[in-house]
Amino acid sequence: MRYALVTGGSRGIGRAICCKLAEMGFYVLVNYNSSPDEAAITLNLVKEKGGDGELIKFDVGRQEEVETALGEWQARNEGKAIQILVNNAGIRKDALLMWMKNEEWTDVLQTNLNGFFYTTRFLIKDMLISKFGRIINVVSLSGIKGLPGQANYSAAKAGVIGATKALAQEVAKKNVTVNAVAPGFIQSDMTKDLDENQLKAMIPMNRFGKPEEVAEIVGFLASDKSSYITGAVININGGLYT
Ligand code: NAP
Repeated sequence: MRYALVTGGSRGIGRAICCKLAEMGFYVLVNYNSSPDEAAITLNLVKEKGGDGELIKFDVGRQEEVETALGEWQARNEGKAIQILVNNAGIRKDALLMWMKNEEWTDVLQTNLNGFFYTTRFLIKDMLISKFGRIINVVSLSGIKGLPGQANYSAAKAGVIGATKALAQEVAKKNVTVNAVAPGFIQSDMTKDLDENQLKAMIPMNRFGKPEEVAEIVGFLASDKSSYITGAVININGGLYT
């Protein structure tokens, strides 16, 4: 039995990833922060897929919460190790840089970039010891191309992309792979304020993507089949940017 942690598993893309990993036979730790009811729905879906898992609450951007929650899990589960980590939790707080408030900058960096750091640093030791690991970071087209109104979010996601490439080289010899998946526009709560009908005209596939489509590539990267892929950033954007 392999153990997988999905940060931000309560809703959207994270929920679809939890379901995919459950289908693949992983035990899924569904992390959430502010949506316990949504997280419980995800866990039910995991069980409906014939899988198993549990909820684990922490704010990825708060080092103490991350380390306490994961440390307690390790203490309760001696001999078991989380070998699949999907850093998916993310927020956006868009504003033109000229008008951006300090907290819009720091909140987005704290969740999207520091969250990756605190969670990954805590779990990587077990992966190195067990000589197997899969780290998959959900980044964004915004971190590759840059999007106006998202200097904070673009900076955070670009930061995770740089860290993905650096860490991949640090741990490759120990059979730990580190990759990033960069979605374009995907239907979720994060994009529900956007007008798909208007924006889809820019997308060669003429539609937003679905969380399940992102989950497929994450599932592949979590599997043994992706054993020679590391340090990669894989676009999933309907042809919007290549
Ligand atoms: P979403 O529907 O808004 O869901 C966000 C998830 O992140 C929720 O499960 C939320 O959990 C969790 N989360 C937020 N802050 C957290 C924190 N501090 N600690 C722990 N969990 C936290 O967004 P989504 O579209 O599924 O996005 C998932 C990832 O894909 C994000 O990294 C996002 O940047 C990225 N992405 C999305 C799109 C898109 O078009 N949707 C495109 C590119 C990249 P709670 O509700 O429990 O707090």
